[in-house]
Amino acid sequence: MAGSNKKSGLVFSKRASAKLNSLLHKVLMDVRPTPNEIAAVNAASNNIIGRLREVAPKEVEIVLLGSISRGTQIKGSSDIDIFLLFPKSMDERKMEEAGLRMAKKIVNKNESYEIKYAEHPYLKLNLFGINATADIVPAFKISAVDEMGSAVDRTQLHNEFINRSLSQKQRNDVRILKSFLDHHGIYGAEAMITGFSGYLCELLVYHYGSFSGVIEAFANIRIPIVIDPINKKKVEDAHAFAKRFGKDFVVIDPTDRNRNVAANVSGRSLGKAVFYSRMLIKNPTTETFYGKGYSNMNAGAKLRVMQNKLCTNIDAIAFRLPNISEDILWQQLAKLRAGLSAELKRHGFGLITSFQCLTGKTAVIAFMSDKNILGHSVVRGPNAVMGEPADSFIKKHRNSLLMLFDEDRIISIEKPEFKSVHEFIKSYINGKNKNFPSYLTNSRATLYSRDIPEEYAKALYETIQSETLPA
Ligand code: ATP
Ligand code: MG
Repeated sequence: MAGSNKKSGLVFSKRASAKLNSLLHKVLMDVRPTPNEIAAVNAASNNIIGRLREVAPKEVEIVLLGSISRGTQIKGSSDIDIFLLFPKSMDERKMEEAGLRMAKKIVNKNESYEIKYAEHPYLKLNLFGINATADIVPAFKISAVDEMGSAVDRTQLHNEFINRSLSQKQRNDVRILKSFLDHHGIYGAEAMITGFSGYLCELLVYHYGSFSGVIEAFANIRIPIVIDPINKKKVEDAHAFAKRFGKDFVVIDPTDRNRNVAANVSGRSLGKAVFYSRMLIKNPTTETFYGKGYSNMNAGAKLRVMQNKLCTNIDAIAFRLPNISEDILWQQLAKLRAGLSAELKRHGFGLITSFQCLTGKTAVIAFMSDKNILGHSVVRGPNAVMGEPADSFIKKHRNSLLMLFDEDRIISIEKPEFKSVHEFIKSYINGKNKNFPSYLTNSRATLYSRDIPEEYAKALYETIQSETLPA
């Protein structure tokens, strides 16, 4: 328990536990939906289930799953997960098509919808008159994981496990944990976040008993860490499990022992969880829980001030986006960013770090580099005692800026091929045969090195803030 002197490592002291309790009391008011909200969401989900019932054949079971049905949803983030459970005897493609057809049939005139793809297609319905959306997901009805026909079939098993395993207090602790992680930018398993999913939060609270238990565990993590929630004792041989799953952080799914629920948590997100947990333990305040707020007003000007202070430049490429899945897009941005970063370094520029973000229908990748480092490249030649090879090196590099003896070698400082990061990126964008990912073609790209439009500057500033450690 928090404050217990049996624990070692960084734990909530008695004084900090008292502070934490009063803080969590306030946080709970922010994260637990009001009875009115719960009633409105229940009415909306019953209404959708009723409409689906009218169009679905008898053998299709219609159920509410996900955080709303488990009492672990956060106030105001009403995402209703409704599943159409088909008999396992059906073909998977036919099941998906039939499910989507039924879902489309129930959309009212004043509502809109989108077809989305996770591991599986589903329909996202934007409800009218209530600030909520409903995901209508076709899946197979199963009672154990060995019957699984599609990835989303697991959800019903998750529901069954969580509903029988978590107490009311623990459900509220899940809400608190989701909010804590969300405020530090690491709630959600999607590619853009690569953080903690809702189900992972539920399993962590179950395993460690409470929100403060999870925080203490994060604060003292030693990787690799392997958690087996249904066998509460410590997993022996964590190294072997970590190797088997190819990850340093493994949470074995109680409903499917071959699945790592933490598979999508990146090292960076785990690192942030540890860092912010340690801050909260040392000083449990609204600031360490929610993170330090900032204003994104005049973001462009703020970015300029920051660059002057750091002696850096920011060069940003904005891409007009096609209508594609955010996960795919995010991965393509990451790939392009990594490729361009490597090229900038290879050309001798002083790249410090890079960022990517989305705003409206535009994606932005940005490179922060030392403005005093020009793209020089130094080529190391042979040892001067190697007469002939040294001669040919000198001949080949005769137009370089300078040649020097460096210890026993000759080195040549080449003329920069590009005068600035801007020039380099411009040529990269406009050059032929570049490996642009399929959705980020050069015809969709615009380069900004000064005067980044305010909308993009805002998104970039927010991204930089979310990656900045508190002072
Ligand atoms: P939130 O409060 O953020 O909505 P949630 O638990 O409802 O949390 P969702 O992303 O809405 O999370 O997903 C609904 C449920 O679907 C999850 O609780 C989980 O059981 C299941 N689920 C989500 N993603 C997957 C997946 N990739 N594979 C299997 N099941 C998944
Ligand atoms: Mg949900």
